[in-house]
Amino acid sequence: MDLYEYQARDLFEKHGVPVLKGIVATTPQEAKDAYNTLGGAVAVVKAQVKTGGRGKAGGVKLAKSAEEAEANAQAILGMDIKGHTVYRVMVAAGADIAREFYFSILLDRANRQNLAMCSVEGGMEIEQLAKEKPEALAKVPIPASGMDEAVAKDIAEKAGFDAETAAKVVPVMLKLWEVYTGEDATLVEVNPLVQTASGDIIALDGKITLDDNARYRHPEHNELVDHKAADERELKAQEAGLNYVRLEGQVGIIGNGAGLVMSTLDVVAYAGEKYGTKPANFLDIGGGASAEVMAKGLDVILTDPQVKSCFVNVFGGITACDEVANGIIGALEILGDQATKPLVVRLDGNKVEEGRAILKAANHPLVTMMETMDEAADKAAELAAK
Ligand code: GDP
Ligand code: MN
Repeated sequence: MDLYEYQARDLFEKHGVPVLKGIVATTPQEAKDAYNTLGGAVAVVKAQVKTGGRGKAGGVKLAKSAEEAEANAQAILGMDIKGHTVYRVMVAAGADIAREFYFSILLDRANRQNLAMCSVEGGMEIEQLAKEKPEALAKVPIPASGMDEAVAKDIAEKAGFDAETAAKVVPVMLKLWEVYTGEDATLVEVNPLVQTASGDIIALDGKITLDDNARYRHPEHNELVDHKAADERELKAQEAGLNYVRLEGQVGIIGNGAGLVMSTLDVVAYAGEKYGTKPANFLDIGGGASAEVMAKGLDVILTDPQVKSCFVNVFGGITACDEVANGIIGALEILGDQATKPLVVRLDGNKVEEGRAILKAANHPLVTMMETMDEAADKAAELAAK
């Protein structure tokens, strides 16, 4: 999960990284109030979007009065920056910048190590710096034992800091390493890391990517999830504990086991070429296909307006086909009037005869049973085209 700048700022503050005060505003009036609350002569109104280059796009504007902060927010809110709509700005205390540096720590997967990147020439986009002046960007692997003072000093030296500045930057690097490890991040980037006219080092812009696989260790990170930007359907599925990925298509897919669901997507995509239809999602309900889990899965899929039909593809294992069949019927009962789209069901494996008998006896008007995966995929793709 990528964080917004204001969220990164909060985590920096929590770990003792020097930052300036910032207040989030969603309206020009709030931005005006924020300017007054900050109480300084200069504030910066900054677009909060999960993409870089906001400055260049006009999403970072200095304000020297409350009215100017209000006008800046008016201009920035609603702006589109590289396809991201600005819903919030951060009104931050202004810094008197003398120099801008670059510093980041990231997970270098290819080399199975953490990597620090640092430059005394910060401010501009790092991709540009790496391309135009690669020698100005130091890349230093962090040993498995972590970043200690000696490592941080080495990074500062390789980045071209003079000894006096290095002595000020090194403690900040160590704090940023604490953010990286303590929050289970895969990226912590500060651009610019600035030195002010009075000599202080401040993280003026922050980018953090958290490792979603470590989320269970950080219940407090759940609050950082952006409910506005995240797909509401994926959120619903996540809350129900389902493995769901939304795609663009018309045929909803439910199966048990990631491998089976993947091949179901392939077969449905292939069958759909004839009808001009595509799979609408990936959804693995896992081993226990109970009525409740099935209902949650069907709910996520059938309430999706793009979905025209749904293919339920289950291979009975520990959860046998009779339980799955009862799960499907139970789910349709739970959903009631909400279930209006045709379901194509293919059951195989443990207790397949019993499962099919149950579906046959229920004789639900929305359910079509097919024997093989290919036939079922074809039927579902065809129904979606109607
Ligand atoms: P980005 O363009 O999305 O990376 O946004 P940044 O937060 O990095 O801001 C872009 C640039 O705006 C920085 O490199 C600074 O030059 C400038 N800037 C940001 N905050 C301040 C501030 O408090 N004072 C001054 N003078 N400039 C700032
Ligand atoms: Mn920046």
